[in-house]
Amino acid sequence: MLPVITLIGRPNVGKSTLFNRLTRTRDALVADFPGLTRDRQYGVGQGGPAPYVIVDTGGIGTAPEGIEALMERQVLRAIEDADHLLFLVDARDGCTPEDLEIAQRLRRLGKPITLVVNKSDSTNSTLVTAEFHRLGLGDPHPVSSTQGHGVRELLELVFAQLPDTEDDDATDAPEEGIRVAVIGRPNAGKSTLINRLLGEERLVTCDLPGTTRDSIFIPFERLGRHYTLIDTAGLRRRARVQDVIEKFSVIKTLQALAAANVVILVIDAHQGIGEQDATLAGHIIESGRALVVAINKWDGMTVEERERIKSEFARKLAFLDFAKLHLISALHGSGVGLLLDEVERAFASATRDLGTPVLTRLLESAVQEHQPPLVHGRRIKLRYAHQGGRNPPIIVIHGNQTELVPETYRRYLINRFRKELNLLGTPLRLEFKTSS
Ligand code: GDP
Ligand code: GDP
Repeated sequence: MLPVITLIGRPNVGKSTLFNRLTRTRDALVADFPGLTRDRQYGVGQGGPAPYVIVDTGGIGTAPEGIEALMERQVLRAIEDADHLLFLVDARDGCTPEDLEIAQRLRRLGKPITLVVNKSDSTNSTLVTAEFHRLGLGDPHPVSSTQGHGVRELLELVFAQLPDTEDDDATDAPEEGIRVAVIGRPNAGKSTLINRLLGEERLVTCDLPGTTRDSIFIPFERLGRHYTLIDTAGLRRRARVQDVIEKFSVIKTLQALAAANVVILVIDAHQGIGEQDATLAGHIIESGRALVVAINKWDGMTVEERERIKSEFARKLAFLDFAKLHLISALHGSGVGLLLDEVERAFASATRDLGTPVLTRLLESAVQEHQPPLVHGRRIKLRYAHQGGRNPPIIVIHGNQTELVPETYRRYLINRFRKELNLLGTPLRLEFKTSS
C-alpha cells in the first residue's frame, strides 16, 4: 500500500503549490487527454524514494481552511488516514498565533509530523526557520515549493520515518494471479459485482473488517486461472445494508490503482456519469492502468436508456476510449462472466513485448501516409521507435524537433499504433526524443 502523506496549514502558506510540485510530472498527461479532470486534493506524489499518496487538506471540507477547517469531519478523517503529516508554515510571515494553535491541536493527535517552513526561497533563511522551534514540533525543515529547494530532502526525511513498504511491479502478473481493482463511486454496485464474481457461497464468509483507508485483497480462482480482487468497497455485509453509505475514499482508490494490474471501473447506469466518475477516470488515466469499464444495472432499462448511457459515457469520458465498455447486471449476473475475459485481454495488451523493428516499421508507414507538419520551414523527422515500458505500454519515438510535434499528430500516432498493434483496454503513452 502506498503511504499517505497529508499537507496541513493555514491558507496561503503554499499547500497547493507544494501539492502541484509533487504531482507535477503527471501534468503532461492532461494535455494528452482533453477533458481529463485532475483532482486537486488527492494525487500520487513523485520525487521521493518511492511513490506515495499526497493529500492537500486545503481543498477538503467547506470552511475557509485554518483552524475551523481543521475541526471539520472530512479534514479530521483525512488526518486520521495519514501516515505522516506535513505541517506547512510561511517563512515570510514568521510564526503566527494561528500556527501556534494548529500546532497545539496537531500535537494532540499523536501522528508523525514534520514541520515545513515553506517560501524559504533564499539560502540565508536559517534565522526565520529557527523561530518555528516554538511550535514544539521538532526541527523545522525549510523548503521552497515554487523553486523546489529542500523538497527532495524533505521527502527523504519523511520516508525514513515511514513504516517499510515494498515496491510493487504492475508489469508482471504476480503468483496470486492478475490483481484486479474494482473501483467506482458509492452504490455503483462494486460489492454486488464482487460477490457475483466470487460466487454466492462466499457471501457468508465475507465478513471481513474494512478500514477507512485500506482495501481488501481477495484471492480467487475461475476456470483454473488465479486472480486477486482488490475490493475498495469493503464488501458491505447484508446485515448492515442500512448503514450509512460508505464515504467515497479517494485514498483507497489511489492505493488500489497502485496495487492493481487491471482496473474494473463500475458505473451506475441509473445515475449517469457524474463528477465522481470523472474524477475517478482522471485517476485511472494518471495511474496508466489497463481498464475494463462495467456499466452496471442495465437490467430493467429500455433500449433507449441503454443507448443514452453509452453515448453519455463516450461524450463525458472520451479519454477512456481505449477501454472496452461492458453492460452488466451485477445483481442478476448477466455480462459478468465476460468481464474477466476482458480483464485477461487488457492485461495481455498492457504487458505485451513490442519489438523495435515492428514499432519502427509502423512508425515509418504512419509517417509515409501522413507527414508530420513543417515547423519554421523545417519538417519534423521521426526516425525510429522502441518500447520504453509496459503496463502501460510506452513507445519512445526518436527524431528531430520532436518537442514541436503537435497534439493532433501525437493523437494520430497513438491511434495508429493502437489499431495496428491491436492494443485493447490499455492506455498507450508516447515519448519523443530528439537525437541531433
Ligand atoms: P495554500 O492556500 O496553502 O494552498 O497556498 P497556495 O499554494 O495557494 O500559495 C499561496 C501563495 O504563496 C501563492 O501566491 C503561491 O505562489 C505562493 N507560494 C507558494 N509557495 C511559495 C514559495 O515557496 N515561495 C514563494 N515565494 N511563494 C510561494
Ligand atoms: P457499492 O457501494 O458500489 O459496493 O454498491 P453495492 O454493491 O452495495 O450496490 C448498491 C445498490 O445497488 C444495492 O442496493 C444493490 O442491490 C444495487 N445494485 C447493484 N447492482 C445492481 C444491478 O445490476 N441492478 C440493479 N437494479 N441494482 C443493482
